[in-house]
Amino acid sequence: MSAPIQKVCVIGAGVMGAGIAAQVANAGVPVLLLDIAKEGEDRSAIARGAVARMLKTEPAPFMSRDAAKLVEVGNLDDDLEKAAECQWVVEAVIERLDIKQALYARLDKVCGPATAISSNTSTIRLASLLDGASEQFRRRFAITHFFNPPRYMRLLELVTGPNTDTAMFDGVVDFIDRRMGKTVVVTHDTPGFIANRIGTYWLQHGVNQAVEQGLTVSEADAVMGRPLGIPKTGIFGLLDLIGLDLMPHIARSMTEALPREDAFHATVREQAFIRKMIADGYTGRKGKGGFYRINKGESGREKIRESIGLVTGVYEPAQTARLPDALGRDPAALMFSDSRYGQYAWRVMGDTLAYAASLVPEIADDVVSVDAAMRLGFNWKQGPFELLDAIGPARVAARLQEEGRPVPALLRAVGDGTFYRIENGARQFFGTDGAYHDIPERDGVLSLDDIKRRTKRLAGNKQASLWDIGEGVACLEFHSKMNALDDKILAVVKESVEIVGRDFRALVISNDATNFSAGANLGTVLFAANIAAWGEIEKTVAEGQRVFKAMKYAPFPVVAAPAGLALGGGCEVLLHADSIVAHAETYAGLVETGVGLVPGWGGCGEMMERLSRLPGVPKGPMPVVASVFETISQAKVSKSAAEARQMGILRPTDSITMNRDRLLFDARAKALALVDGYAPPTKPEFRLAGAGGRTGLGLAVHDFAKRGIATPHDVVVAGTLAELLTGGEADAIDVVSEEDMLALERRAFMRLIRTGPTLQRIEHTLVTGKPLRN
Ligand code: NAD
Repeated sequence: MSAPIQKVCVIGAGVMGAGIAAQVANAGVPVLLLDIAKEGEDRSAIARGAVARMLKTEPAPFMSRDAAKLVEVGNLDDDLEKAAECQWVVEAVIERLDIKQALYARLDKVCGPATAISSNTSTIRLASLLDGASEQFRRRFAITHFFNPPRYMRLLELVTGPNTDTAMFDGVVDFIDRRMGKTVVVTHDTPGFIANRIGTYWLQHGVNQAVEQGLTVSEADAVMGRPLGIPKTGIFGLLDLIGLDLMPHIARSMTEALPREDAFHATVREQAFIRKMIADGYTGRKGKGGFYRINKGESGREKIRESIGLVTGVYEPAQTARLPDALGRDPAALMFSDSRYGQYAWRVMGDTLAYAASLVPEIADDVVSVDAAMRLGFNWKQGPFELLDAIGPARVAARLQEEGRPVPALLRAVGDGTFYRIENGARQFFGTDGAYHDIPERDGVLSLDDIKRRTKRLAGNKQASLWDIGEGVACLEFHSKMNALDDKILAVVKESVEIVGRDFRALVISNDATNFSAGANLGTVLFAANIAAWGEIEKTVAEGQRVFKAMKYAPFPVVAAPAGLALGGGCEVLLHADSIVAHAETYAGLVETGVGLVPGWGGCGEMMERLSRLPGVPKGPMPVVASVFETISQAKVSKSAAEARQMGILRPTDSITMNRDRLLFDARAKALALVDGYAPPTKPEFRLAGAGGRTGLGLAVHDFAKRGIATPHDVVVAGTLAELLTGGEADAIDVVSEEDMLALERRAFMRLIRTGPTLQRIEHTLVTGKPLRN
């Protein structure tokens, strides 16, 4: 058994080391960050500088400013001994074998036998790193390969050696999984492991073919992105993100390490224009620009997106390439189309899929690991084998054969079958032994997808469904576009409360989508407003209030488990739950003022209640009202679950789950823990600040307007919000009931929705996805 990890040491405070240290701190664990000693007064300046830089980086490596306080900085000359206090040391220094090995020799002497040591190398094999290492070191060593940026990329590739003490690394893996939130994929000790081996092949082949087939940068990305379930950055946009200068290094080290017959070598071609771009500082987003750049134009104020001509090497305004609908949605239709886009898709992706198939079992035991690595390391919606299934493995094999290309053994073996199948509700994969095997269930992981495959839904419509997730708990899933909320979803929420009250012990509200809910469906609101159906709008507001309160006061516990965006109405769902189990990457906020409205589904009252219960809030209504006013009027959105806690959306009793895969399981466990002795909350009473408070908030808004921070309609919206939060037109500081508070919300909402500027805001947001500052 290994000792629980209470402190971690990260060596190397560069891009990766600093990011890894931040993620350890995000997990609430102290971390020592070391780099080479600097001459001069501050010998730990490199590590200190890295932390300072991270506090200014966007997207932020730290989930909260408090996390940064858990990082202790030092240098390798004065502080290496402190590594002995740590149960795990991660090496993330420059990619040089001699430097890494020299450091390991020092660490081996300093650290006790119970300290696990791992490298973050992306290209050096474990066998080489261990060349000349002691027996003890071989036992305590493995490769833990994080992806950039470590906070946001969910993949961790693990390579262990024949002598690795697996029990010791079980503790490290558990920490990486549960605390750092990464999904650990076991890979073999081969160059580039899984994701970079396939990903680098795909990227280089993608560049070569775009040049050869005469596609523009934007055309190539339009083909090699969304239609194939790949982020819209495609090939060239992704290279800009990675950094063009990094690619030759990775390619060189893979070229040196891979056997001569490996198909990788055919993709290594010097493109003179890329060499010139790197030499001129056009290394991508971190440099002067890359394949794309933003040009400020002659006025210096416009923003023109340009892309580089692959033949001319000259920047031109980037044309948005659009694929015909039929090709844009179906990978098979695209790859088998005769169009030039189809030919590009087939050549690049067809070869990449074949390459991936040729690498199992060389790089991993099974197709499941390869798919997971490409999904989590490159953000593909489907891994290569899932994509092959979608296209038809036999169809791909036949075309390769027709072209006289080799058909990988695994692709031949699967024949007319698929790499995955469902057998008695269980998902199975095609193994290298030619048989199907169950995908092992992971302890503490519950997948809604699996449940949906195995069971029939209890209730629902096109927008939402209710599922039985076992142990007497039901799960309400939203599945509308962006999980926007409307009448139809409210109907399912209402029905769910009835069903759970009758047949279940608790309710969880969660879904597998990227975003929990982007808020109320503004499209239907705008439509109703345009035909002046004010009564309909008011009915929806009132119905939402009734449904959310029915959920709040239901005789069973309700747990909301958000991940991604939980905005506006989506945030109000959280506020009405007994408990929240939030994924660490939850971006929550009441953003209604951005579209010229106020929260109308009980959000104002619930926020007020939450903040009044926070420890340390000064007595009297005004501090709470002022704080709620600030949060709502500025449409603040948390940049993490930790920040949502600071904003008061998460209560001290709510919890945060670091690993997205574990969210539903954790939420169900929380719901079950609340079942015994459960009593619905008592109804709150609100002490509002009355006319005096209103004047105070009004002055603040007036000041913002004078300083040019608030637009004319901001003043109207904030004024309406101030009135609502201070008790409407009442003069005295009244105690009001929850019903009164809801009436105040309804009235304020209805007043704002009837204003032209609010409708302009809604329309603008629907069209552009951005707020209108009118
Ligand atoms: P980096 O260049 O940003 O940082 C490397 C750090 O190593 C620097 O802070 C440098 O001061 C330090 N260093 C240099 N010489 C040293 C020495 N002699 N002793 C101790 N420290 C020394 O590099 P990075 O991108 O953070 O990469 C670090 C490791 O992570 C490498 O092994 C790399 O292959 C791997 N990796 C990188 C990425 C990526 O996307 N950048 C992704 C996964 C893994």
